[in-house]
Amino acid sequence: MTARSKLVAANWKMNGNRADNERWLQQFRAQAPSCAVVVCPPYVYLSQVVQALAGTGCGIGAQNVSERPAGAWTGEVAAEMLVDCAVGWVIVGHSERRAFYNESNEVVARKAARAIEAGLRPIVCVGETLQEREQGRTQQVVAAQLEAVLQLCPAGQLLPGAIAYEPVWAIGTGRTASPEQAQEVHRAIRGQLAARDAEAAAAMRLLYGGSVKPANAAELFSQTDIDGGLIGGASLVAADFLAICAAAAH
Ligand code: PEP
Repeated sequence: MTARSKLVAANWKMNGNRADNERWLQQFRAQAPSCAVVVCPPYVYLSQVVQALAGTGCGIGAQNVSERPAGAWTGEVAAEMLVDCAVGWVIVGHSERRAFYNESNEVVARKAARAIEAGLRPIVCVGETLQEREQGRTQQVVAAQLEAVLQLCPAGQLLPGAIAYEPVWAIGTGRTASPEQAQEVHRAIRGQLAARDAEAAAAMRLLYGGSVKPANAAELFSQTDIDGGLIGGASLVAADFLAICAAAAH
């Protein structure tokens, strides 16, 4: 028995322009998905999405946040600034940030802590590389990533945010973790949370991300510990994203 309702988040990554976004938003508004949704556009389009989705109940998220409070950090955006712009969520620790911008487990933890301090809901991403999986280190790597966050942010404070398990080898590759592979890691994540706070563990939404498509979403979301998805490529096409939301609503 679980009281967790499904959540589907769209990570547009560095894609979009005002005209395409408007078309996407119109299509999205016309269908009003019946599961909880968070849309995470690039920073510069956050205000467009906030305005377009006002009153829909849909959450809006940034894809990154500074690990520091406001000050002389050119090019950075503080968590409080996002809150000031009616942004409620933020993705932290996406594997592209970890791999291409050298974000360590500790940096990701500090970003999650700043997000929480400012009143944002973090979506904390964890996941192993293909090499780490092939070396049999998946659980160890994911546990260490999560542990660093839990050192700074008690599980209860991560709520009502979410944790996204995103195997790096499945992101944007068309190669999806099998429902069993994903469930195995999700179960371990929930166990790790439960060891610290059973109540928070039971309530925490654990999202799967990695080449989720309309065709594979329902099977992934039917797993006991999979509470929705973080969707990259397929979220760029409104009809596909809506189909994934529909799979979560069943
Ligand atoms: C992501 O960017 O978080 C992601 C899961 O991408 P994709 O769905 O394209 O694999």
